[in-house]
Amino acid sequence: DFDVLVVGGGPAGAAASIYAARKGLNTGIVAERFGGQVADTVGIENFISVQYTEGPKLVNSLEAHVREYGVDIMNNQRAVALRKDGKVQLELQNGAVLNSKTVILTPGARWREMNVPGEQQYRGKGVAYCPHCDGPLFKGKKVAVIGGGNSGIEAAIDLAGIVEHVTVLEFAAELRADAVLVKKANSMGNITIITEAQTTEVIGDGNKVTGLNYTERKTGAAKQVELAGIFVQIGLVPNTEWLRGAVELSPRGEIIVDERGQTSVPGVFAAGDATTAPYKQIIIAMGSGANAALGAFDYMIRN
Ligand code: FAD
Repeated sequence: DFDVLVVGGGPAGAAASIYAARKGLNTGIVAERFGGQVADTVGIENFISVQYTEGPKLVNSLEAHVREYGVDIMNNQRAVALRKDGKVQLELQNGAVLNSKTVILTPGARWREMNVPGEQQYRGKGVAYCPHCDGPLFKGKKVAVIGGGNSGIEAAIDLAGIVEHVTVLEFAAELRADAVLVKKANSMGNITIITEAQTTEVIGDGNKVTGLNYTERKTGAAKQVELAGIFVQIGLVPNTEWLRGAVELSPRGEIIVDERGQTSVPGVFAAGDATTAPYKQIIIAMGSGANAALGAFDYMIRN
């Protein structure tokens, strides 16, 4: 049996396990894929104190740091259910059931993709999902933002300060973003918003993005825009489908946590992109993982 069982091997889970193990607690990590989203990241320039690193390199350092504390890493294992009956029981896809005094949930999230030709081929070569991360790579260039919700319009405003021009493409006839954001976007001078536009293809020269094709839904006309980057902002989906009914989730499926990372179930904590924390970044996920581990420690010395 574990004192602390962490679900997820991204930055939040790695930080939580190190903080727990340093308290002398018997700690394990169950991860479908150790490294999480960081494993899919090319350049990282905003991990404070490290001017530049790359995803796989950071994943190796995370794993080495976690292993130094003797944390039991159960990689390539998917958790499918969580119950509480005195201790917390975590059921894995392979049928095993693990018992722990506390659990820290850090299953992360995934970007919703457009599912159009070229998107996968040019991922990291012009197709991007995180304006905070990749915006500066497109300094002085033309980009598109796909999606006219709050995250899309926020991304357009953010990018408009860095790039030459931003085209926002929204599928629906109306933008879903807050009026104050739309007003700000319209005032910027280098943002064009196109509604009723269905993106159909990412085009490139074999090495990088050169533009995109879309259909003007009102007329059915095929259109093309030339650009260097495409930011897909059509939603971030938390990996919490398996937790429905077990812990309280927000309407968007994010795990609801308090300031100590405690969920609706005593002894079950959560951190990182899967939670209601508003900003999703590596350094924020790590901080919240450390916070949840200290929350779990606090819980254990009182129970
Ligand atoms: P994740 O990194 O998503 O890790 C989740 C972990 O949980 C994984 O190990 C996964 O396998 C596991 N898991 C999920 N479900 C289960 C389950 N049921 N059972 C067992 N394990 C499970 N942020 C930055 O700060 N700077 C950047 O430059 C940057 N660039 C990015 C580029 C890309 C392409 C992407 C996708 C993201 C980028 N981000 C960047 C965001 C950053 O990667 C995330 O905010 C961060 O990884 C979140 O950490 P996390 O630990 O909460 O979740």
